[in-house]
Amino acid sequence: MRIAVVGSGYVGLVAGACLAEIGHDVILVDNNQAKYLALVSGECPIHEQYLPDLLDKHRGRRLIFSNKLAQAAAACDAVIIAVGTPPASHGEADLSYVESVAREIASSIDRYKVVIGKSTVPVYTSDWVRRVLLLNGVREDLVDVVSNPEFLREGTAVTDFLYPDRIVIGANTPRACSVLEEIYRPLVDGSYYEREDRFRFPLSEFRLAKLITTTAKSAELIKYASNAFLAMKISFINAVATICDFVGADIDEVREGIGSDERIGYKFLNPGIGYGGSCFPKDLSAYHAVARECGYDFRLLEEVVEINNQQRERFLRKVQKALWTLNGKRLGVLGLSFKGGTDDVRESPAVTIIASLVQKGATVCVYDPAAASRGREVLSSDRIRYAKSIYEAAEGADALLILTDWDEFRHADYSLVRDLLKYPIIIDGRNLLSPEKMRALSIMYFSMGRPDVRPLHMADPTASRTEVSQEPIYGTYQPAMEPESDDSALVE
Ligand code: NAD
Repeated sequence: MRIAVVGSGYVGLVAGACLAEIGHDVILVDNNQAKYLALVSGECPIHEQYLPDLLDKHRGRRLIFSNKLAQAAAACDAVIIAVGTPPASHGEADLSYVESVAREIASSIDRYKVVIGKSTVPVYTSDWVRRVLLLNGVREDLVDVVSNPEFLREGTAVTDFLYPDRIVIGANTPRACSVLEEIYRPLVDGSYYEREDRFRFPLSEFRLAKLITTTAKSAELIKYASNAFLAMKISFINAVATICDFVGADIDEVREGIGSDERIGYKFLNPGIGYGGSCFPKDLSAYHAVARECGYDFRLLEEVVEINNQQRERFLRKVQKALWTLNGKRLGVLGLSFKGGTDDVRESPAVTIIASLVQKGATVCVYDPAAASRGREVLSSDRIRYAKSIYEAAEGADALLILTDWDEFRHADYSLVRDLLKYPIIIDGRNLLSPEKMRALSIMYFSMGRPDVRPLHMADPTASRTEVSQEPIYGTYQPAMEPESDDSALVE
C-alpha cells in the first residue's frame, strides 16, 4: 500500500520506517525544513535504537522523504497523521497541527482514501478531522477517518512497532477497517516474522499482536486511559516509596511482595524521580480536560500529577540531606533525557532537577549518552558543563547524582567513580544501583524508598527528626514510627 506519514518526529519517523519494513511504500512528510533536509541527506535526527539501520535499509527504495504534504497525500491510499499535540493553555490538547494537516490534504482527496490519526488526541478528534475535510470540499464517500493510536515507547520504539502487543483500529466503517487491517496484516498474521530479512526481536519469545477493532471514540479513549493508568502506577509506587523512607522499609522488598501478585505485576512499579517525556504529562492534563468538558471531575488524575511533581522535590531534599548546603557545591550528574534509550528531554525530570540545583548555587557537570545537544537547548548556564563520559562527570565532584535510567550508568565502574569523586557520595534518583554493591565499595549511597548506605561516623544528623515533620507532604499525616536508625546500613 502507498502510505503518507505526516510528521517525521519520534512517532512518525519510526512508524514510517517500520511500515516500509513490513512492505509498504511510504512517503514521510515534514514541514520542518531542517529535519527534512537532515533526513534526505541520510541523517537520523533522533536517537532511537535500530532506527538508523531501518532508515538506511529503506531510504530511497520503499521510503522517501518530502516536504510537500498535498503532493504526498495525493500519491497515497492512506495518510497517517503523526504531528504533535502539545498542551494548550488550560491543559487541553492543542489540535491546531492536526487541523492544519486536515485542511492541507483536503484538495488531494480525489479518490477514496483513509486518513489515520496516530497522534494522541481527545475523543471526537476523528469526527472533527472528517468535518474539516468535508468543509474543505472532500466528497463524503471519498474519505474515512480512523483512529489508530500509537503505543510505542521511546528507547524501544522500533521493537515496539514491529512486535506490538496490540494494534487498535478505531474505524467507523468496515471499508476503512479493512484498509487498516491490510496495512498491519504482516504483523497480525505473522507473515512478516517468516521473512529471512526481518528485523529480529531481541528477546527469545514474542506473541502475535492482538488486533482490537473499535469505534473511533473508543480508540481515542484507549490511548489516554492507557497512559493515565501507567502514570498512575508510577505515582502509586512512588507514594509507597515515600512511606518506605518514612518508616525505614525497603521498597525493593515491598515491590517484590506486591508485584508477585499476578493481578498487579512488576512493570511500571519502579520508584524514582517521576515520569516525564512528551506523552504522560501532556496526556494526563489533556485527559483531565476531556473529563472536565464532560462534566466529570477526574480527581485521581490530579493526584497522580501531584505525586509526580513531589518526587522531584523529594529528590532535591535527599540531595540536601546528603550534602547539607548546595551553594558552591560541584555536582556530577548522570542523565538528561526523560528516560534511558532516548535523546528526548521534553518534560524531563532530570532537566528540572538540574535547573533547581543550579538555582540553589551548585555547579553541575552532566553526562548523557545521547541527550547532550538537546539538553544544551533547554539548559544553558555557565554553571552547567557537559561531560563526555561518566568518569569526567564524576571527577572532583562533591557527589554524583543519577537522574536517568541508562543501562550505561547501571554497568559503570563504580570503584573508579568512587576514586574520582571528591567525596564518595552517590544519590540515585532511579534506584539503578545495588545498595549492597555500594556498601561493599564504601560509597555513601542514597536512593528512593530504600535505606541509606552510610558509614557509622556519617550518621544522618537529622535522623531524630522525621521527614514528614520537617515538611508535611500529606496534610496532617504523622508517621506512627520514627525512621529506623541507620545501623542497618553501615559501611564500616
Ligand atoms: P514530534 O514533535 O517529535 O514530531 C512531530 C513532527 O510533526 C515534527 O517533526 C513537526 O515538524 C511535524 N509537523 C507538524 N506539523 C506538520 C505539518 N503540517 N506537516 C508536516 N509535518 C508537520 O512529536 P512525536 O513525539 O512524534 O509525537 C507525535 C504524536 O504522537 C503526539 O500526538 C504524541 O502525543 C503521540 N505519541 C508520541 C509518542 C512518543 O513516545 N513520542 C508515543 C505515542 C504517541
